[in-house]
This record gives sequence, C-alpha cells and structure tokens, in this order.
Amino acid sequence: MSVSLSVARKRIPHPLRSCLATNPSLRACTSRTYRTESKRDPNVVRIVEVGPRDGLQNEKGVVPAEVKVELINRLGRAGMRIIEAGSFVSPKWVPQMAGTAEVITRMEKLPGVHYPVLVPNMKGLENLLELLSATTAHSVGSLTSTIPPTDEIAIFTAATDAFSLANTNCTVAESLTRLAAVTQKAREKGLRVRGYVSVVITCPYSGKVDYRRVRDVSRELLEMGCYEVSLGDTTGVGNPASVGAMLDVVAGALPVERLAGHFHDTYGMGVANALTALEAGIRTLDSSVGGLGGCPYSPGATGNVATEDILYSIQDSKYRTEKSVDLEAIADIGWWISEKLNRQNASRVGRALRARKERQKKQS
Ligand SMILES: [Zn+2]
Repeated sequence: MSVSLSVARKRIPHPLRSCLATNPSLRACTSRTYRTESKRDPNVVRIVEVGPRDGLQNEKGVVPAEVKVELINRLGRAGMRIIEAGSFVSPKWVPQMAGTAEVITRMEKLPGVHYPVLVPNMKGLENLLELLSATTAHSVGSLTSTIPPTDEIAIFTAATDAFSLANTNCTVAESLTRLAAVTQKAREKGLRVRGYVSVVITCPYSGKVDYRRVRDVSRELLEMGCYEVSLGDTTGVGNPASVGAMLDVVAGALPVERLAGHFHDTYGMGVANALTALEAGIRTLDSSVGGLGGCPYSPGATGNVATEDILYSIQDSKYRTEKSVDLEAIADIGWWISEKLNRQNASRVGRALRARKERQKKQS
C-alpha cells in the first residue's frame, strides 16, 4: 500500500499535491483511485452511458417507466458498464424524471455495472437514501439480485454563475457549498460520487468561459470527494481547438485520470472533441445512445454525442472499451428508443448501420 501511494504521489501534479497534505478525504480518495489506476490498461476507454438520464431528461415527452427500465436493461446486456439511470430532482422541475425511484427499483442490476443517479441537493439524496434502505433483496426475472439499486450518485455545478443561477438558482460558490454537504453524506453512506461541471467551453448567458474557472471548480469537486469530474460542453459549441485549450488548463493542473469528457453534438463536433480528449489523456467519455437529449437551458443545443458514434470512432484503434460492447446491439437500441420517442435517430453510425443492414436484406 505504501508503495502504490508513493507512486501515486509522484504522479500527482503539484497544485493537487499541496491540498493532499491538508485534506484527508482527498488523500484517501486519491490514493485509492491511483491504486486502481495503476492496474488499468492505459488504452481502455470507459464509456458512461447517459441516455436514460441526461438524454431522456432533455427530450420533449415524458417517457413511461417501463420504457426507461427496458432501455437500461438493454444497455446493460449490450455491455455498457456505467449507465446513468435517472435523477432525484423534483418532478416539478423535470417531469421526465418523475419515475426514477420506480425505474431503479425495477431495472436489472447486473454485477459489475454501476447505475449512477443524479442528485441535485440534500433533499434528493435523502429521498434516494430512504429508497435504498427500504429496498430489500429481490429478484428480477432469472437474476436473483441482492445488489442495491445504485451505489453511485452524480452531482452537478457549472463553470459560470450565469448558468448556475439560471439552472439551479444559486451561484457556483453557493452550489459548491451545498454539494460538499451532499457529497460528504453520500460517501458516509458508502456511495461513490461523480461530479459534473456544465458549460466548460461556452455559456449561453455569459459567453466564452474562463478555463481557469473550469479548473478551479473541478478541483473543488475532487477535493470534496468526487472520484471523477466530468467536463461538460453543454452547449456543444466546442471544437478540437477550444476543447484542447480547455484541457491544457484543466488536465494540466489536475490528475487526468480523474477527469471525463462530456460532449454535445450541436455543431457535429462531438466525436472530434471526444478524440481530442483521448489525445489529452482522458479515458472516460460520456455519451448517449441514439444521441438522445439536448439542453433546455441552452436553446438549440442538441443531444450528447451518440454512444454508437464514439464506439465506431475507436474501432481498430489502440483504444478499446472495458468490456466488449456490441456496437450492433447499441445501434439497435438507438433505433428502438428513437422510435419509442418518435424522434429522429441522431447517431450517424446508427443510421449508416441500419442502411447497410437494409441493403444486405434486399440483396439476400
Ligand atoms: Zn449532457
């Protein structure tokens, strides 16, 4: 243990090293994370499937719980290892997320798969904890499960006060204070905590974002106990130049192993930005099947980069996913959910694979 910790310390960039001395929670979290990292293949890319939450939350219609459950089950069976399952946000604000308690109770819990849920505040966390303590071992189909519905929450803040005020009615500093308490309580209850920073490139209200602010907010999230911070280009305005410049500042000061890229495809740059993030050393990417989603606070923004497109973009490269993910199966799920929602499939790869399939069908 002491060996890996000393190796870990050596690899931690200076600004974080100094807070390790004063912050025991970060020290514990960092040493644990680095021990895991040291075993990780440097070319393994983790994909966080955010379709059932980030995606559906931003679609127009309200999706029935059984469709969400089926979406999550299909994604798990296709090989996704981290599936964001829903949100404990007030249904008054986000009606699409009303049935999260039902969804996470009913969905299959596959071993080794994490099903994070978004928790905006202490109230949301308390609701989740209540559900977790009420949930006893139950069986789903042939899978007898004693796995709790979830072992992970996601919390979110932004890189600008303007976005934070519009989205959660408080400044970034105020949101960080609230989130520190949520994170502490969640970790005391044994939950992992993932942080999101919205609008890391451009804010729809205040324009170009100061990347040093992204760095500082991300650092605070890590210090409060998040195992990872996902950097969100919420508006999808970024391109490889701006994403690269942002990552120079953020990953230059924080351990890149603990950062993730979250790109939206508004300008068709989602895949290019994801590949830029991989070049910068990031190994965790968020994406949504069929490119589900948008952003209600960012007019015109389209959904997350499609999971199908990310998978295709790393095919035959040095990168591979943790467990082999079935691209054809993911593409089929993209079609299935798009048809259920009566929306266009936003994945180019999904559309191309279907066209190929139809061609082959005609020829045979
Ligand atoms: Zn998103």
